[in-house]
Amino acid sequence: MKGYTGNIIKINLTEDKIIRDKITDQFCEDYIGGYGFGAKILWDELEPAIDPLSPENVLVFAAGCAGGTILPASSNCCVFAKSPLTGFFGMGVVHGSVGQQMKRAGYDIIQITGKAPDPVYLFFNDDDLEIQSAKDLWGIKDIEETEKFIRTKYKNNKIGVLSIGQAGENLSRIGCVGKNNNRPACRTGMGAVMGSKNLKCVAFNGSQDIEVAEHDNFMEKAYELIQTAASGPETAKYRNFGTAANVLILNKIGALPTQNFIHGVFDKAEEISGETLTENWEVRRFACSNCPVACNHISYISRGKYRGIYVALDYESIFAFGSCCKIADLPSIMKAVELCDNYGLDTISTGVSIAFGMECFEKGI
Ligand code: SF4
Repeated sequence: MKGYTGNIIKINLTEDKIIRDKITDQFCEDYIGGYGFGAKILWDELEPAIDPLSPENVLVFAAGCAGGTILPASSNCCVFAKSPLTGFFGMGVVHGSVGQQMKRAGYDIIQITGKAPDPVYLFFNDDDLEIQSAKDLWGIKDIEETEKFIRTKYKNNKIGVLSIGQAGENLSRIGCVGKNNNRPACRTGMGAVMGSKNLKCVAFNGSQDIEVAEHDNFMEKAYELIQTAASGPETAKYRNFGTAANVLILNKIGALPTQNFIHGVFDKAEEISGETLTENWEVRRFACSNCPVACNHISYISRGKYRGIYVALDYESIFAFGSCCKIADLPSIMKAVELCDNYGLDTISTGVSIAFGMECFEKGI
């Protein structure tokens, strides 16, 4: 079916076994891509009651039906497995270019089971797949350093790299699958599942075109969408302030998580708002592949004790380390996010866990 590569690759890291298979048009029609593909595969493949950190867990990377095309917001990649945090359906979404690179390397779905005897990484280089030792990365390189290592080794700055940090390696149930300076698959402990398989990173370099149906019609509609996303009122708040725009909006309606969710209004919300962030700290905006919204706003601290921090702040990280902990100092929040990004920790779970600990302490528990 047009828009899809039609390919799934199944890798068993215990047996060092690789199966290349096809997905049917009916499967694409029924489950569409991304979320649908991941949910269906987990439903079919997971044995009941397995330990999420055992080799039997199934780790799935799935791209969307429009991935690899010029449609805005189509280049994300979803990561799925049984969650070691909830014991239920686990998933996270990575932003950037990875979904696009994965499709252009020739895959709609990557399914990983088993556990490698020693740390490894996977490099999907168009039709080739390399399974390489990651002994020199494991316990040594964080998410940013791993991306640099892979891109330097293969002399290609466009390689899409997803990796885990110390959190995933040590099976932290709030470990994420990360990407340098873009939103990681942070929820439900997908990094711990990668760690349990001794899988440090997956990387993609794709150069194949994705064929679309009704090409001229598709291009016309895509152009309309690009125009709307680039200049329409629907996306203005994300273009101007990123997701941090939600701080003041939610505070106004009493829905900003504050003091470990005891309150919905933070009296210092202005100090941690997207508007304050943009005015004082923002230095750059960047977009995922082919997306004109460019909602990823990067901040830099040029003075004070946190000088040198260069980090992307989203609404969720701001409420978790900010209002939820009653912290109204953006540089402190940026420092906390930088540490999480390097360790590969979910900023939301980390922040709200700290807020919970603070309330326990205050109540003498
Ligand atoms: S730039 Fe923002 S809106 Fe565009 S795909 Fe990335 S996360 Fe989504």
